[in-house]
Amino acid sequence: MTSYDTVIGLEIHVALLTESKFLCSCNTSFGAPPNSQCCPVCLGLPGALPLINEKAVEYATRAGFALNCQVHYFSRFDRKNYFYPDLPKAYQITQDAFPLCTGGFLEYYMDDQLVRTEITRIHLEEEAGKLIHSGATIVDSDYSLVDYNRAGIPLIEIVTAPDIHTPKQARLFLEQLRLLMNYIGVSDTKMEEGSLRCDANISLKPAGSSVLGTKVEIKNLNSFRALERGLEFEERRQSQLLNRGEAIRQESRTWDERAGRTISMRSKGDAPDYRIFPEPDLPPLNLDPVWVSLIEASVPELPLERLRRLEGEYGLSRYESTFLVNYRDFGDLFLSLAPMGIEHKSIVNFLMGDYARLAREHGHLTAERIAELLKITSEGLISPAQAKEVLEELFSSSLSPREIVEQKGLQVVGDPAKLGPIVAEVLSTHLELVGRYKNGETRLFAFFVGQVMRAAQGKADPEVVNQLLRDELAD
Ligand SMILES: [Zn+2]
Repeated sequence: MTSYDTVIGLEIHVALLTESKFLCSCNTSFGAPPNSQCCPVCLGLPGALPLINEKAVEYATRAGFALNCQVHYFSRFDRKNYFYPDLPKAYQITQDAFPLCTGGFLEYYMDDQLVRTEITRIHLEEEAGKLIHSGATIVDSDYSLVDYNRAGIPLIEIVTAPDIHTPKQARLFLEQLRLLMNYIGVSDTKMEEGSLRCDANISLKPAGSSVLGTKVEIKNLNSFRALERGLEFEERRQSQLLNRGEAIRQESRTWDERAGRTISMRSKGDAPDYRIFPEPDLPPLNLDPVWVSLIEASVPELPLERLRRLEGEYGLSRYESTFLVNYRDFGDLFLSLAPMGIEHKSIVNFLMGDYARLAREHGHLTAERIAELLKITSEGLISPAQAKEVLEELFSSSLSPREIVEQKGLQVVGDPAKLGPIVAEVLSTHLELVGRYKNGETRLFAFFVGQVMRAAQGKADPEVVNQLLRDELAD
């Protein structure tokens, strides 16, 4: 058995979160009745002329900077011709020879090691419509329905170099890319709604060889799991063929999620000739350098930068930092709470604990209310058990934590004059156990503490209870 090196490159389509379409002013919101968001331009009616949405160019430019690309002041649009019912003009407006961005990279962690994937290019293009077949595929359908609401939504296509080496790495790359797109606010990246889609190229070559093998394109890898599983399947399929001495056919295959395998769609010979030529209805993009530099300056702190800051500046673990980076709203909350004089670790523990579950259900609390809750807990005004009760109350109440404590009478009792009689009462009802304790069964101490806490309905200050019990039992 020969061993092989796997070579993977990805093409990712990201729908941009603009309010109107790329080349007309139609609305882009998801879930509207079919064909209710169309006009002569996006329906491809004769004589209708496109006009570029500046926001789409802005978002593509910001994505370029976030991916460390060179953003070109000059880029150009092209017509890619093909006939398919989801494309009413019978051509797609895209960028071929002169894309907006080239030559970037994305860094991310794989098994605690920082790895880098080169970005070859990013270009702007328009989305096609959506086909709904009466059968499983267009071939065995009596009819197909078409919805042009999606036609003309702006997309960026991000193309990586073939420098990804495992299916797992491909998944990690895509996860990081998705997070990045969310951070820079250019896409909602909902894979289930099709606003982030991924195709992959994969080839195998003998280990260590510099000659690339025949590549196969896999389409329809529309979840992180599908991407990893589809590539794993293809890796196995190709190595088995090669081991039998058979050649790999250069072709496009589609991932069949249910069957758990890739299926041949078309070979290279069947690939359509797109007859690409410069788009006559749109001028080239000539970006103003000042405008471009303003977009560059608008790129916010990116996931990897934030991860490094959380570890370096706040001393958080990789696990904690990753949580705060992946759930950016939690990270933002942490960064608001961090300067408020509360220990950083206790903020993270709080955010990752019961709070995470409650916030996902009800939405976030303000940093001020959280800070107050953490302070009165650390000052011992309320016990940890009471803090949990107050926390749950905060989500349905407009009161402050202190007000809730007062209203519910939750305050911890720390006054020895009040706790003393309770301690005495507990010990007098367990005289036999007190005797055993004094004879060396010191583990009974925890039992006495528990009994006092119960008698005080959980409101007793544990430190004072401990001290009182020690005093009493020392006699
Ligand atoms: Zn339109």
